[in-house]
Amino acid sequence: MPETPPQTQKQIDDLFSELKTLSDAQLGYPTNQCFDYSSLFRFLEFSINNVGDPFHDSLYRVNSHEIEREVIATFANLMRLSPDETWGYVTSGGTEGNMYGLYMAREMFPEAVVYFSQDTHYSVRKNLRVLNYRNIMIRSLDNGEIDYEDLRETIRINRHLPVVVMANIGTTMKGAVDDLDKIRDIFDELAISSSYIHADAALSGMILPFVDDPQPYGFDAGIDSIAISGHKMIGSPLPSGVVLTKSDYVGRVARSIEYVGAMDTTLSGSRNAITPLMLWYAFKQQGLEGFRNIVHESLATAEYAVGKFNEHGIPAWRNKNSITVVFRRPTDEVVRKWQMAPYENFAHIITVPNVTRDKIDAAIADCVANPRTTN
Ligand SMILES: *Cc1c(COP(=O)(O)O)cnc(C)c1O
Repeated sequence: MPETPPQTQKQIDDLFSELKTLSDAQLGYPTNQCFDYSSLFRFLEFSINNVGDPFHDSLYRVNSHEIEREVIATFANLMRLSPDETWGYVTSGGTEGNMYGLYMAREMFPEAVVYFSQDTHYSVRKNLRVLNYRNIMIRSLDNGEIDYEDLRETIRINRHLPVVVMANIGTTMKGAVDDLDKIRDIFDELAISSSYIHADAALSGMILPFVDDPQPYGFDAGIDSIAISGHKMIGSPLPSGVVLTKSDYVGRVARSIEYVGAMDTTLSGSRNAITPLMLWYAFKQQGLEGFRNIVHESLATAEYAVGKFNEHGIPAWRNKNSITVVFRRPTDEVVRKWQMAPYENFAHIITVPNVTRDKIDAAIADCVANPRTTN
């Protein structure tokens, strides 16, 4: 192969050092940067591709399907479904996983109405547009959970139609968890005969399995599918996620494709084969005990941040079992400097392991030194 031209090398070096600086001051996005995948670098030498269903043979055999199935089994156990009854795959991220859940729901209940709260991730509205799936937005409570009263009354009006609920297991802005028990109680109360719950557990899907008193979040709480991000709590340089559903459902979308000798059950065709390997490696390297420690440490840091903000006169709070710390919005410069995520009159930081107490102290000092002068 030709050598890298000097000008190109300079651009590479400049980008590298810029990213290094920027990564250090990123507090508002839930991407755990504490990872080390260096033992997997050599896999970049292959044209490795997980095209097709990871549970079926494929003619394209340079893949990591076997590893991918192990990743799905690990998540199945965490999400409280027997691996034998689970189907799923490693996606490109939370958006694709949510799209998959809604796709499955639509194949099962094309006549349904999808209900989702105001605090639902922006990807869901886009997914619903792409799928051309009938939907109604429900109000949120102040803490970010869906407004159960509004949900009940809105379903009541459409109770003759199947119900699909897009439940948030950790909202993007406030880390709120919709109460799956209450949602199912509403179905019972209104005698809904056909229903489907997809859970968007992008971040909290890797938190709740490891806490002592989790809100309901898994298949044991009546969900039908769930999406979890790989690059958030677990951490990875390549965005990824997993989607899980029940294996009896997947026949509804399966089509056999002769060209690749595979079952076309996934949304993407060619799929990343390195991300399953990274997720698998993270679980091997940390073990479930390692993730339990990471989660407990992150929750303790979140509690520390809430205390510090309040001590400095900046109102701050968080939801139960959440590492998303919500506080009064600082100035735009402070938001930019620390890459906080702003929304209306508040902002948040998310205490993944690289968001240390030192950085929190420094960011709070900036908030205090630069008070907002308007509203
Ligand atoms: C981040 C996030 C997503 C989308 O995940 P991507 O991996 O960016 O596609 C979906 N839902 C929630 C709640 C999220 O926080």
